This record gives sequence, C-alpha cells and structure tokens, in this order.
Amino acid sequence: MSYSIAIDGPAGAGKSTVAREAARRLGCVYVDTGAMYRAMALYTLRCGIDAEDGAAVCAKCREADIEIRYENGEQVVYLNGENVNGLIRTEAVGNRTSRVAVYPDVRRKMVELQQKIARNSDVVMDGRDIGTCVLPDATVKIYLTASSAVRAKRRCEELRQKGEDCDLASIEADIIQRDRQDMTREVSPLVRAADAVLVDSSDMDIEQVTEAVIALCRQKGCL
Ligand code: C5P
Repeated sequence: MSYSIAIDGPAGAGKSTVAREAARRLGCVYVDTGAMYRAMALYTLRCGIDAEDGAAVCAKCREADIEIRYENGEQVVYLNGENVNGLIRTEAVGNRTSRVAVYPDVRRKMVELQQKIARNSDVVMDGRDIGTCVLPDATVKIYLTASSAVRAKRRCEELRQKGEDCDLASIEADIIQRDRQDMTREVSPLVRAADAVLVDSSDMDIEQVTEAVIALCRQKGCL
C-alpha cells in the first residue's frame, strides 16, 4: 500500500527531527518543505528584494529553480543548481521565509513540487499546510505543537550546540511573531486539519513523540 504522513505545526515543535526519524523507521522519504520556502527566501535576500514587495517576490519566484535531491539519505535543496543546505538555517533567512511564504505564487510553486514528490514515493512530509492543502488525503495527519517557551528553549539549545550565541527572550519573541505570521496569512494559514491528531510535545522527548507517530502509522497500516 502507498501512503503519506503529514506533520504540521509551529516553528520549533520538533517536526523535522521527528519526521526524519519516523521516515527512517518506516523506510520512506522525508520531505522538509520548510527548506524549500527557505531557499526561496534566500534567493530574494540575495537579489536584494524587499520581502513586503509582493510583485517583486513573485517575479523572482519564477526565476528560482528549486529542486530537491536525496544524497546519502539526506534531503538536499538546490537553488538554481547550487546546494544551499548550509545557507538556509540562519535566523535571518527563517524570519524572512514566513514573510515570503504568504504569496500565492510562491506557495503554488512549492505545493506542486511537494505533490510531485509524494506521487512518486511514500513520504513523511512536514510543514505548515501539508494536511490541509498539500496532501489533504494523507494516510496519517499529525499536528505537532508545544508551548512557545519550550520551543524557544529548544531552539536556544540547538544554537548553543552549534556554538552560536542566543538570547532566549528574543528567540521566543521571534517564534511568537513567526507563529502569528503563519497562522494569520490569507493563503493556507497554519491550522490544525479537522482530521489531524494533536500531539503536544511540551512534556515529551523526541523518542516519545516519534513513538506516538509510529503508533499512528501502524494503526493505519503503513508499517
Ligand atoms: O519549517 P521551517 O521553520 O523551516 O519553515 C520556515 C517557514 O517556511 C515557516 O515559518 C513558514 O512561514 C514557511 N513554511 C510554509 N509552509 C510550509 C513549510 C514552511 O509556509 N509547508
């Protein structure tokens, strides 16, 4: 049987870690859709475009060739032929991404690419609109969340591990701002799909969340 697993939720809820590990255990492809939007945001940043200038962003969007490849089991995002995986994880790109992701032309292009990947393989796909828009018929839908305080703390720990400095209060403020941006945009806002299972990871570790996801997949016959 072919299947797709949709994991949506706000920034820092642990989606990508859990989705990657669930895909490994299921033996299917992990698709990080945020990375695609981040590559698009990087392109507009490089072009010196104002993120609020919708017409300019949409024009640039047509020029940006975003491609996903799998190298040594890892998703690699190519922007006009260049591997940009190492350039899209900064706070500057992250904050710009949610502003660029509001435009319908940008979303249409990304959604088409994501649906194409899911047509060709079994996937665990994470993002903001996977269960509601990209894969409305997904076999399993999960809405993964956690309190903004917990999410900020996790993000700070991640940055510190990378040797970067961080200020917990400003990270939490950024997270709240990004949530607001994602939840209130007109096109495909971040909402829990009516048929998505809510998982609050505030008091759970990665293994517990992964186990919960795998249990749901097993119930639906994906394993
Ligand atoms: O998941 P990640 O933090 O990498 O996503 C960065 C941003 O990309 C999100 O804040 C959101 O604005 C946008 N995004 C989106 N739809 C998705 C995935 C990400 O709008 N499916």
